[in-house]
Amino acid sequence: AAPSILAEAEISVSIRGITKSFGSTRALDAANLDIRRGEFFSLLGPSGCGKTTLLRIIGGFETPTSGDLLIAGRSALGDLPYRRRTNMVFQHGALFPHLTVAQNIAFGLEMKRVPRPEIARKVEEALALVRLSGYGDRKIDQLSGGQRQRIAMARALVNDPEVLLLDEPLGALDLQLRLQMQEELRRLHRAIGGTFIFVTHDQGEAITMSDRIAVMNAGRIQQVGTPREVYERPANRFVAEFMGHSNFYDGTVAGRKADGTGAVAVNGQAFPTRLPPDAMLGAKVFVALRYEKVDVVPEGRPGEGGAALDGTVEEESYMGSFVRRRVNLGPMGTIVSDAANTGRQETMRPGDRVRVRWGLDSATVLPA
Ligand code: ATP
Repeated sequence: AAPSILAEAEISVSIRGITKSFGSTRALDAANLDIRRGEFFSLLGPSGCGKTTLLRIIGGFETPTSGDLLIAGRSALGDLPYRRRTNMVFQHGALFPHLTVAQNIAFGLEMKRVPRPEIARKVEEALALVRLSGYGDRKIDQLSGGQRQRIAMARALVNDPEVLLLDEPLGALDLQLRLQMQEELRRLHRAIGGTFIFVTHDQGEAITMSDRIAVMNAGRIQQVGTPREVYERPANRFVAEFMGHSNFYDGTVAGRKADGTGAVAVNGQAFPTRLPPDAMLGAKVFVALRYEKVDVVPEGRPGEGGAALDGTVEEESYMGSFVRRRVNLGPMGTIVSDAANTGRQETMRPGDRVRVRWGLDSATVLPA
């Protein structure tokens, strides 16, 4: 039975219970995933979590130990890479340095014996798509890193793939170029309309680029959702930790009101928050609260509803676009707050008495 609630026709790539072992290493452990037609989908996780292995299985460069892979509704496991409706863009482009740009892009089409005039036309189209018209006669070593990456993209796009597989294609670029290429990739995705599957270990990159993200760890898919879902409602501790900076507290459910809000007792101190509907009094939980959801204001400032605890500033750090403050709350421990640098904040010094605030819906409470 299909593990999916999506209509069959909407699904581009379906991963069904795929396990991949290399000797005693289990690179993928019973992974299930449905990727929709036309979506920009990212596989996100730390080094070694299995994301490249999954991409290579989709592209046909690796065979799963067990499980099935469906592309456009039928099993693709028996098909060689060039027979699949997929095309892969490798991290370092994997271009032929001794060929020209046009020869690199044309390579696959020549293998397929596409007629010459058609090849020439397609190469021009692909160059225009990646905004490098006129570069056809250049040698690869006369191009910058970003231009090479765009040629690698053109070489994949020229085959009209239904699914474009991108293995950290921006990983080797410096930050400036990387941000520029993120824009380019999004523009290309809009222009082409195919399914893009993008591997990255950079959570910020996955958030800004993707329609949906699968967060992976140790060969397992931890959570699948939109960037907002994965960031705002992490399914477990791993996702909460991997998707950005959070304060973490272990505690027990200590009180619940009729409206679903209540408190978690952390070292005997009450942490006010909304509680999951099924969290029973006394249940062991852990709480995650993002740094940027915590507000620090001078003591005595009137509350705005939500949680408000008094504390003492331990440290304030200037971070450029934001200011980070660590505040001691007493038995609960410390809490960190990141506030956008608007240029209008008051400076806080160690020892200042402050009020720490956050919304009752801001924290994530999960079973311990
Ligand atoms: P990275 O971001 O570092 O590329 P990744 O998430 O893409 O990491 P994979 O390359 O998929 O991770 O590797 C997953 C696991 O499988 C790792 O433990 C890796 O060492 C192992 N592995 C991958 N390919 C092979 C192989 N050909 N032979 C043996 N082990 C492998």
